Amino acid sequence: HPHDTELADRARRVIPGGVNSGQRSIPGLADLVITAADGARFTDSTGREYVDYHAAFGPPLLGHNDPDVTAAVAAAGRTLDLCGVGVTPGEIDLAEQLCELVPSLEQVLLTSTGSEATFHALRVARAATGRRLVVKFQGCYHGWHDSVSLNVISAPDRVGRHDPISTGILPEVLDATLVLPFNDIEAVRAAFTEHGADIAAVIVEPVPHNVGCLLPDTGFLQALRDETSRHGSVLVFDEVITGFRHALGGWQQLSGITPDLTTLGKAIANGYPVGALGGRADLMQLFSTTPGAPAFFAGTYNGHPAVVAAALATLRKLRTEPVHEHVFALGDRIRAGLTDVFAELNLPAVVTGYGSVFVSYLMSGPVPRTYADLLRNDVGMFIGYRRRLAEHGVFELPLNLKRSHVSYAHTADDADRLVEATRTAVRDT
Ligand code: PMP
Repeated sequence: HPHDTELADRARRVIPGGVNSGQRSIPGLADLVITAADGARFTDSTGREYVDYHAAFGPPLLGHNDPDVTAAVAAAGRTLDLCGVGVTPGEIDLAEQLCELVPSLEQVLLTSTGSEATFHALRVARAATGRRLVVKFQGCYHGWHDSVSLNVISAPDRVGRHDPISTGILPEVLDATLVLPFNDIEAVRAAFTEHGADIAAVIVEPVPHNVGCLLPDTGFLQALRDETSRHGSVLVFDEVITGFRHALGGWQQLSGITPDLTTLGKAIANGYPVGALGGRADLMQLFSTTPGAPAFFAGTYNGHPAVVAAALATLRKLRTEPVHEHVFALGDRIRAGLTDVFAELNLPAVVTGYGSVFVSYLMSGPVPRTYADLLRNDVGMFIGYRRRLAEHGVFELPLNLKRSHVSYAHTADDADRLVEATRTAVRDT
């Protein structure tokens, strides 16, 4: 469809692959030049409007350019910018609210991204335990850095080993990561039996959303809690996606299972760059801006007044308006509509998700529990119909196993439009 190839060509000349995030591997999408975003929609440089269900991988839970968030950022910019010493009242307010809302948080630090939050969480776990190994799960993604498995989806035949999708990572780093199948309690127990004394941390997306949606079996997260407690390892919930989106207190509030450390990002500031890590005070106390401390911590932009203002405005809205009620109802409406569409078209499909996150897999049931289960997804058909959706002015990321999101700005009409566009796009694929 009609992209602005002149702008895209300029981008490709000076930006590798023509994009800074997200879409490089998807043919055609690097030609998409985005010029505006508002509420449930974005507009490209040809003036074409799309109802956005990609939502930049998840941050704008309130919708794009939320007026309260935007106004708060502008107001902060008029009174304060980055000074890099001391602390601002906004940072104190934000930290207090986060500690109040998220069960595991006794203390919290701000970063600019989710990647930094997971990086520092694993560092401090190693500093606190004096151990080396980190356990992660297939299908979970924790950002781009050397200290954790870098790949989204360690292939099922590579359990126990690292299967990097990126080069340039030291083998020692990869060797320090144990990759286990999600929802496999026996594999977790076996790993602790064999390596317990060397496991610094277990890091997990409590709901692995980087491969769509795998819901944790009853007992799985509890087993992680039990094994890490028994062996003196640190349990890290990476709630960068689940935090604020599924509940103000994240999945730990919903499951009643409290990790030692939690990482946050994305929806916390509705799209402005804020990450956070928090948890047990005895662990968090190891962070210090004094060189030589067990976990020296710094970051030029940590706690930037404009993004802190964005986070405070976001939290205010999440706490005072029926955001979760709205997005949960729309999520249900979409899941029901998509289930009907696939049934009518006689296509084997699993429609799943949680709350505002919805996911379709083109494969027969049952609902997948592990990454290995997801290999049955019909990748070609999946990517094909999602590319066609864009022709109907509806945007879901055409990348295998990708989740979609509704926001507070989406309406029931938007939801129905997605369902109708899916019916046509799937039929024509
Ligand atoms: N953890 C999870 C669960 C994520 O989904 C992501 C980003 N998709 C990250 C960490 C990394 O966050 P960022 O992209 O802000 O560095």
